[in-house]
Amino acid sequence: MGVIIHEALQHQKTTAETLRQQQDTEVPHEPIESDAQVQILTEEAAELLQSIPTDLAAAGPVAFAKHLVEAATLNHDQRAPVALIANDMQMAWEKQGKPKLMDPVGRILRMLLLGGGGCGKSRIVNLVLSALFLIFWGPRGCVKAAPSNKAARGILGKTLHIAAKLGGGSLNIMNLRPQTAAKRALEYLWTPCGAFIIDEAPQGAAALYHAVALRSCYGRVAAHEVELSDYAEPSQSFGAMPIVVECGDELQLPPVPASAGVFAEQSQAATEHLAGVEIFKQKDYVYRLSTMKRFTDATQISILTKMRRSGGCKLTKQEWKALRDTDISAASATEQRRRLEGTELWYQAAPTWATVSMAQVIRSRLSAVKAAATLFIVPAKDYVLNRPVNARLTDAYLAEVISSVPNMNNTGRLPSIGLFHLGMVIRLTNTVEAPEAVTDSTGEIVGIDLDPDEPSAATEHTSAIEGIRILHRLPTITVKLHGVRTNFLPPMPCTLHAATGACRDCTSCDFRAGCIAVEPQLARRSFPVEVQDPGGNCAYTIQVQRRQLPMTIKTASTIHTLQGVTTDPGLIFHWKFPRFFSEELRWLATYVALSRPPSLAQLISVGLPDELRNIIEAGPPEGILSRFNDMFEEKEKATHIRAAEVMRELGWDATD
Ligand SMILES: [Zn+2]
Repeated sequence: MGVIIHEALQHQKTTAETLRQQQDTEVPHEPIESDAQVQILTEEAAELLQSIPTDLAAAGPVAFAKHLVEAATLNHDQRAPVALIANDMQMAWEKQGKPKLMDPVGRILRMLLLGGGGCGKSRIVNLVLSALFLIFWGPRGCVKAAPSNKAARGILGKTLHIAAKLGGGSLNIMNLRPQTAAKRALEYLWTPCGAFIIDEAPQGAAALYHAVALRSCYGRVAAHEVELSDYAEPSQSFGAMPIVVECGDELQLPPVPASAGVFAEQSQAATEHLAGVEIFKQKDYVYRLSTMKRFTDATQISILTKMRRSGGCKLTKQEWKALRDTDISAASATEQRRRLEGTELWYQAAPTWATVSMAQVIRSRLSAVKAAATLFIVPAKDYVLNRPVNARLTDAYLAEVISSVPNMNNTGRLPSIGLFHLGMVIRLTNTVEAPEAVTDSTGEIVGIDLDPDEPSAATEHTSAIEGIRILHRLPTITVKLHGVRTNFLPPMPCTLHAATGACRDCTSCDFRAGCIAVEPQLARRSFPVEVQDPGGNCAYTIQVQRRQLPMTIKTASTIHTLQGVTTDPGLIFHWKFPRFFSEELRWLATYVALSRPPSLAQLISVGLPDELRNIIEAGPPEGILSRFNDMFEEKEKATHIRAAEVMRELGWDATD
């Protein structure tokens, strides 16, 4: 077993390294055209594109976009921003003499596409805009990116860091001039690009946004007529990129720290931050999607709509009662059991790490029972780097104190107790192999390889509880990642092909698409733990370095991780906010919690406070709202008037 997994890991490392060479540096070999398209189009989008007559592009962007919005079954609201984009593209295309591929330089438009959960933003980006831009600017004509790994994976894009080829470098303007290798990588990525899509743009830091705007200019200055010194001017931003579409929701939890965001107060911000905000403000269109497709519950939709109303709005008695009724804290034990029946696979989330770490254990146990699988439990290996000389600080005592640090942001994002079973759906808490197995990637456990030195189960007397096995050594775990098709691991031939090796055409041979072996990681940094001397008044700060598998069950999460997730089949939410949560943060967290489950019947509340009604009825936080309105209120109104006109002119408003 040990030898096989060792070889598999070698294979995986080579495969991942090749992928990184292609995606991160993107210099040495030009990928084949069809490959490049597959990478940024979802399977569904590629199929949709196949279904469109090849000569349709000759009729121009409007005709082509019309076909796409129909094939993607977008509704009236979702078609409107596409109409604006296609219409402006059409004018540019005609001006350029109706070429097969459009000029990748010369500003056409900047759009901010806003919308809360379930508005269909990712459908518009993945099925329509990506395909439209690739057709008119070629297979490398569209770059997609987002501030976080999770959001980037959602649109098959890169992180903003990678799009700017920043490595670990600083965002200070003095350090943004690229060295030779980075410059070549920037040129490869940005020279052929005609359209840039950024998801969750308001959730990123303004200084990072600024870095991308400037570094994309560096990537285009050699090939195109671009004025590097004017990179912050509306006509020259992103290297005079024809189209930039940014998506997001201003009423989401801000990045950490909150002061880095584009809607943060700017009284003492750095140059890079201010320059980033200035470029962000340069929008021709600000379109707000009003569709709430995810929700099936009229009461919930009404509550969320009222909650977002500027200046606030009272809930009806019935609406508040519907919310109160989700709370099971005051119910009898029998009633609680009844309500929790069948919720084994629900999400469980909270604003505090103490509750989340408890939820990780509960969810893992229930998930194992539901799957009728053995639950493996393995404590982290914690190394104390500066152990005090004090006999009362025994191994067991220190282990207990260390394991009670719940905040995984402090522990190198490694859990104190690893919990696994075959079939468990997990989330990676750290990057295993960029670019496809990154922090917040999700997948299913398909293999658990115990350490060769793990004592055999038969000789173990400790695990008295049925269905649970406590491991002494950290195992290697194979995960089949969601939405990934790379063959990281060597294929497993069927019996027929055992001698000749796995065969591509055989349905029994297993190429293990998207499977990745995850080894224990040693945290890069140590974390401090306060330790009280159990027999004296002395207190110590010890430094601990942890080794553990970087994963946890997907359904237990913090409020930040919950953002952007549809909590199907349901969500159990603990409402106790930490004292340090500002009013603004309380409103944002409440909005996240109420907008994740598809209906109120799929929400169970724990400890819903009476003050929640005030938070909801007060409306969105004044600060964010007024800063947003200062930037975009007029533009948003004008955009919606213009969108209605264009929809009429193009005849797109006839159907729905
Ligand atoms: Zn076979």
